[in-house]
Amino acid sequence: MDGGADPRVISTCEKVDKLLMKAYENRETAYPAYKMKYRAIVWSCPAHYYANFSNWIANCWGVNVLVEMESLNYTKPLETEDKEEALRDLARLYERMVMRRHTNGGYQNVVDELWKQCEDWNAPLVIMYQNVACKNMATVQGILDDQGRQRGYNLIWVEHDLMDPRTVSRRTMRDKVNEYMRTVMKAEPVDPSLVEFEDEVCM
Ligand code: SF4
Repeated sequence: MDGGADPRVISTCEKVDKLLMKAYENRETAYPAYKMKYRAIVWSCPAHYYANFSNWIANCWGVNVLVEMESLNYTKPLETEDKEEALRDLARLYERMVMRRHTNGGYQNVVDELWKQCEDWNAPLVIMYQNVACKNMATVQGILDDQGRQRGYNLIWVEHDLMDPRTVSRRTMRDKVNEYMRTVMKAEPVDPSLVEFEDEVCM
């Protein structure tokens, strides 16, 4: 073994690259728009072991996640030509990172900003991630629930353990949404085959 990359892995990567480029050029989406029944946004930090959770919600329940909090960190295109300006852009981006925003001026960034974004995106449903190890979000859970109720928003709290699926499994995360959609929203899944399945068969 010379320690180089496995040619089978390279070949698979190239195939995936081509597939992605083809889908991009054809403007294909991860789920058909006609199946979408609910407009939603995702708030708080996501589980890194379930990066495609929003795709599952869309395909299973027709919940169209329009934006995730992390994509609202910084909307200025990063400078790539001017070195000094590129460094300033990076510094500005780091200043606005989710964790920093939550721990400095957290209330406005987490609570007030959520209602503003719900209004801007016309999204009455919120997928509210809750990192079980995070005390910051736990302190505002009751406030978010109360204010969400007053404003007429539906909040689905989805617990996760950031990097560790042994504490909160992907299935447990899905079950939280399944339960809420069935009992509170009185919804029917757009694809019932995606409601129950073992974690081993998904990414
Ligand atoms: S403060 Fe908590 S919710 Fe915010 S990014 Fe950090 S771990 Fe996530």
